[in-house]
Amino acid sequence: MRFEVSKVLDAIEKRLSTDPALARGVVDLAEVVRYADLDGGRPATLLRLGLVVDALSRRLAEENVVVYVVVDRALLSDADLTSNERMVIRRWADDGLVEVLPGAGDRTLEVADLTGLPVISRRPYDDQRERRPWLGEPGRLLCPGYGPGNATIEPAVPGGPQPPSRATVRGQEVLARLWRCPEPGCAAFGPSRAGRPGGQPPPRLRDGVPVCPRHDEKLLAAGPRPAAEVLVARVDGTVRQRFVVSSDQPVVVGRAPDGLDQGPGVLMLGPWLAEEARRWISRSHVVLEILGDDLVARDVSTNGTVVRVGGSRAESDRLMLTRDQVRLLGDDDVIELYPGVQVARAGQWSSGGVANPSSVMADAPTMMIQLPASD
Ligand SMILES: [Zn+2]
Repeated sequence: MRFEVSKVLDAIEKRLSTDPALARGVVDLAEVVRYADLDGGRPATLLRLGLVVDALSRRLAEENVVVYVVVDRALLSDADLTSNERMVIRRWADDGLVEVLPGAGDRTLEVADLTGLPVISRRPYDDQRERRPWLGEPGRLLCPGYGPGNATIEPAVPGGPQPPSRATVRGQEVLARLWRCPEPGCAAFGPSRAGRPGGQPPPRLRDGVPVCPRHDEKLLAAGPRPAAEVLVARVDGTVRQRFVVSSDQPVVVGRAPDGLDQGPGVLMLGPWLAEEARRWISRSHVVLEILGDDLVARDVSTNGTVVRVGGSRAESDRLMLTRDQVRLLGDDDVIELYPGVQVARAGQWSSGGVANPSSVMADAPTMMIQLPASD
């Protein structure tokens, strides 16, 4: 059973990021692990984070949805969690996948405030509404609950599809810069995030001064943050993966680009492709990069890359890039590696298009998580 639990935690780990460009919601982990009525199980279990991730994926109808997790430091010594769960959380923190600090509740709201991401919580935050009026806007506060056979996430204020995240003015200011933490080896604000995808989290603001959330040290400005675009890969109408292309990190998209599998700088489409598409699409097919302020596509394939100008399906708007040809991508342009295998800016498609996104809980032992019966 331990083996199955660790497989679930590995699956959850792939859905964690403190990069505001990739995350789709902010959660206070201490709250989530104690949502006992989600499954009627133990007072606290880390597996509930998986239920929440799955519920958010279903709400967004997307595969591989990522969350920004804030961990109250007290959770690291919480005896209601298993020692293995506490160890896993510590490792996630050391790897910069989650944020650990005292006072996670406040920080959760601050991250949502600065980045424009929704908060996922069952607290109504009545005491915060005056200071943070956005909590009353549609889609900004999402409440986990449970429906027949599954955990759910519903907006506290209904209002159609989730609006795109917009940082506040102060958020834009702090997110426009890179920051350095004086603490050696800081996972969030260290000198290099090499080997890990994604950009820096927003700093914590103490009396308006940016500080490291974990080390509580004043952060040093380290120049402008590299320009970045959030893109999505869609296969047969389903959003499979969001990813970031930045001026210091181009991304190679293909069937199985060289070197790494799903690491930074590489987007591997292979597992999502049917036989015909697998044969057509090159291992490394198209390179996306940012030059100046522009997003640019460069074909590196055998069979060429189609650009559908303005997202149009008309034959006259279909442009073929052959090897080493470069095209500056307009806001609505869609890249097509093969019919139905597409890459575009994240705002291009209003829905992720998948009714049943794959679950991070697939390997969960049923005796640990018992969802309400679906009768
Ligand atoms: Zn630090």
